[in-house]
This record gives sequence, structure tokens and C-alpha cells, in this order.
Amino acid sequence: MLRGTPVSPGIVVGRVYKYRRGFSVVKRIKLRSAEVKIEVDKFRGACRQAGVEITEIEKTMLRQLPKGQPAPFEAHRMLLDDPAFTGRVEREIKSRRLNASFLVRELLDEYEKKFAALDSPLMRERINDLQDVGGRIIRNLKGEMQPALSDAGEQVILVAEELSPSETTNLLKKRVIGLATDSGGPTAHWAIVARALRIPTVVGLGSLRERTQNGDLIILDARRGTVLIDPSAAQVKRYRSLERDWREEERSLRGLRSLPACTRDGERVGIMVNMEMPEEMETVKEYGADGVGLFRTEFLFVEEIPGEEEQFRIYKELAKRMKKRPAVIRTLDAGGDKFVSKLGQDRELNPFLGLRGIRLCLSNRRLFETQLRAILRASHYGNIQLMFPLISGLAELRQALEVLEHTRQQLARKKIPYNSDMQVGVMIEVPAAALVATALARLVDFFSIGSNDLIQYTLAVDRGNQSISYLYEPLHPAVLRLIDMTVRAAKEGGIHVSICGEMASDPALVPLLVGLGLDSLSVSPAAVPAVKQAIRSMEGRKTRKAVQNILSSDDPELIRRQLERRVRASRRKFGVSYGKGR
Ligand code: PEP
Ligand code: MG
Repeated sequence: MLRGTPVSPGIVVGRVYKYRRGFSVVKRIKLRSAEVKIEVDKFRGACRQAGVEITEIEKTMLRQLPKGQPAPFEAHRMLLDDPAFTGRVEREIKSRRLNASFLVRELLDEYEKKFAALDSPLMRERINDLQDVGGRIIRNLKGEMQPALSDAGEQVILVAEELSPSETTNLLKKRVIGLATDSGGPTAHWAIVARALRIPTVVGLGSLRERTQNGDLIILDARRGTVLIDPSAAQVKRYRSLERDWREEERSLRGLRSLPACTRDGERVGIMVNMEMPEEMETVKEYGADGVGLFRTEFLFVEEIPGEEEQFRIYKELAKRMKKRPAVIRTLDAGGDKFVSKLGQDRELNPFLGLRGIRLCLSNRRLFETQLRAILRASHYGNIQLMFPLISGLAELRQALEVLEHTRQQLARKKIPYNSDMQVGVMIEVPAAALVATALARLVDFFSIGSNDLIQYTLAVDRGNQSISYLYEPLHPAVLRLIDMTVRAAKEGGIHVSICGEMASDPALVPLLVGLGLDSLSVSPAAVPAVKQAIRSMEGRKTRKAVQNILSSDDPELIRRQLERRVRASRRKFGVSYGKGR
């Protein structure tokens, strides 16, 4: 069994179709001086043709994708006019007198080496775009055809190194029932498209291409992020039945989109989405959520540090698209495992306990003020809210609020509009913050519990370390008591409390979280329907009582079993509720 990162949930059993993008071998050819101009013209023609192909693909994609989903081809188009790419090839045809396809190949190899060393998902995505555009140009120069996914037979699981957004268009032909790649991360553009199309997808499997042949039967479990190679007859039987259940569930969940997240006894719970890339804004409507509960802005800072105008443009777009719905923007949470190379941070021995989150921003006032100004300015155009990550105490929060006040005054002096009532909150993700939550609640409008970090810091378990992952337990009584403490402090202080860590995306834990009194859950977009369904099939009052009993338990396993029993019981009692909205 191979393990990767699940990107779009589902279970499928199918035959492998290995997809290799590419073109035949590219030779190095020295040109005579009379041939140089002809080669330049040929190269320009190949670029133009690549542009036409990209526009065609974009049109198809826009027709097929859910409405409003942006087709991510801007980066491709920019590459076609980039002086460092097409401009450089053209210059070198003239100066080195070499054939265009060789020069494009050479440049692709050079960038690949350079970017591969940086180990950043965004850089990998950039090289992926570059490969796609470069491959098109080379194929056009050589008069070759794009290998088509549509060559695959019916119902295959596509296995590839990685894909590009343009290649995913062929997925729309419905021949591909699942996607499994050896590289790539969940934020790649093509992965976002796969998610929007709801094709079960797992990325980062490492060696699936090496271990399989075309036509091999595999089982892709994109809920867990695993691939079973050469399964036994019993496994195939079991998974085919799970696949049928999943498809049935998918059909039913789609009906939930326009229904509110209300418990059986009429309590409304907010369902928000977590987003990392601007392209994900549309998932709010697409999945029927109430707004954005967490915009992780650090992904904007991975390649370059964006200036105020660039940030303002993105945040304003978010505000306008959300209309009245809330959109919570979290200030830069770099450091820890999110190393932003351009910030020039020193390597630390203990980065998770070091200059991370709000600490980094407070130590770099210019960076912090720039972002705060951009967020404040965007707040004029919609329901933007702001929150600070990794607050560990009162003094730190006061300091952050002072900087915010200072930037408000800067804008007021320049008569730049902003929403002076913009809601401001803190993330509760350090145990110390949960323990002093009552005091923090007096200074802010809302709390958002970052359980990913709260678990890591409470249990002293590095959230990314596989060898101790068995200790990473969301149901540890210490974690639950800190969440309970935070919710109580919020209620006493009369402020809103939500949770945006991964545990909120697990439908089995939803009764527990709602029972603890959380006002809203912010989850990964694809989890919205299942979380909504879990809310719609529980009884608020009864669950709250039961959760108080659960809180007195010291055994996570016992807690898990109790929760599972509750979920099964309410399924039996209510089935799934898809009727008209209450
Ligand atoms: C969290 O810690 O739960 C959280 C949502 O923040 P991040 O995962 O970005 O650290
Ligand atoms: Mg966090």
C-alpha cells in the first residue's frame, strides 16, 4: 500500500492508465546564419499556436467547471510573453545560433533544477506550468500531437508524475474516475480543479508509476490518501461496495448545498471554509458554506513578499465576491513549518517554538503594517474580518492591537476608507491562550480555535512528524478541556467562537464540537457537505448534555466509541435529512 496526501475525497476501484506528457527527443542543431530568421519566425508561430491552444482549453474548462470557478491559465499566458522565457529563447536563437526546441528544452531543465532545490509547493507549481507551456511550444515546433488522456479506455485511474491544469480538461470527458500522482501538493492549481470536479485524487504517492503497469487493478482510497496495488479478490469486493456507498453519498450530499446547517431542534451552526489560495474563493458558494472562516495568507508570501497594492487587490476581490458573507483573513503566519524564504529568517533549532506567527509580524513592523493596511482597506468593500495567529498572552495581543490602531490612524489621516467596525479576533492555538481566554475575550470580537496547533502544543507532538503521529490525538481529554474552557470564556464575554483546525472537518467529531458550544466550524471546502449533514442529523440539546459526560472521561478511545455510537444512533433515528430547508 502506498500513502500520499488526499486532495479530493472518494473511493474508486479501477485500472491504471499511465499518463506521460512529453515529446520525442530534442536534438541540438547548429543553424546557418541564413536559417536564424526562419527559426525565430517558426518559434514565434509555435508560441502563438500554444496561446491559441491554451485559450481553447480555457473555454472548454469554463463551460464544464462549476459556475464562477476561475480557470487558472493566467500564469500560462504570462509565460508566453515572459522576457525570461520566450524572450530569452528568441535572443539565444540569434546569439547562439541553435534550434528553438533545443533551447526551450535546455531552459526547462535549468529551471527545473533551480526550482526543485527550493522545495516549495508554489515553485513546483510554477515549474509545472512552465513544463506545460514549454512542452506545447516544442510539440508545435516539431509538429507533434499532445498525448491525449482521451486515448484512455473507459473508467481508468490516471497515474502520473504530476498534471497541469490544461491536462485536467480531458478529465471532463469522464473517462477518468480517479487521479493518483507521485508528486504535487494539495494547493496545486490542477488539484483545485480536480477537487472542483469532485474526482477522487491522491497526490505525493512517490513511486506509484514505478510500481504499476498499464491495466493493473488498483484501489484508490482518496479519503485516507492510500493506493492498494494488486488487491485481493476480497479487498476488491469490499472496496467496490465502499465505492457504491460513496457514490450514493455523493449524490445525496449534493442536495444539501442550499440547505442550512441546522440541528434537528433548530439550532443554526455556521459552516465556513478554510482557504489558502485566492482561486479557492468560489468554493464557498460551490459547497454551500456561509463564508470564509480562515484565509491562510502565508501562501501569498511564498515566492515573493507581496506589496500593499497586490495584497489589497486580492483581499478586496475576496470582500467583493463574498458580498455580505464574512471572510476572515488571518495575518501572516510564517515560521514553524511554513518557512517563507524571502523573509530572511534565521534557521532556528526549534522553529515551532520560535519566531513564528504573530511574533514574526511584531518583530517586522513594516511587513505587518503593510498587510494590516491592505486588509483594512479591503474591509471597506465587504464583510472582511481579521485575526491574529499564535497569540500566547495578553501583552502580545495588546501589542498587535496597537499596531492595528496605528495603521487605522495612518489610513484615516490619508482619508483612505476602511470599515472602522471591522471585527477583530484571535486564534486560540497555544494552551496559554486557552488558559487566559477570559482576559483575551475582553479585547476582541471573536475566537477561532486552531486545533492543529493547539493539539501539537498541548501534547508536545510535532504535527508533521510521522514517527510520533500516533500521539497526535484530537480527542485527548486535555485538548477537549482546553476547547471547552475557550468556548466558556467566549460565551461569558459575549463573543463568537469558532474552530478552524482539521478536526472540524471530521464529520464524526462534529457532534462533539457542536455539543461543546462552538458557534461555527471552518472546514476544508470538500468537507462542507458531510459536516453539514452531520449537523442536520443531530439534536443540539441532547448532544450538549452527552458531551458534558464525555468531558469527564479520561480515555480518548472511550470518547471515540461514545461519539461513534451517537452518530450511528442518530443515523438510525433520522437517516439523512435532505428535505426543504428549515
Ligand atoms: C491550526 O493551527 O489549527 C490552524 C488552523 O492553523 P494552521 O494549520 O495554518 O497552523
Ligand atoms: Mg495554526
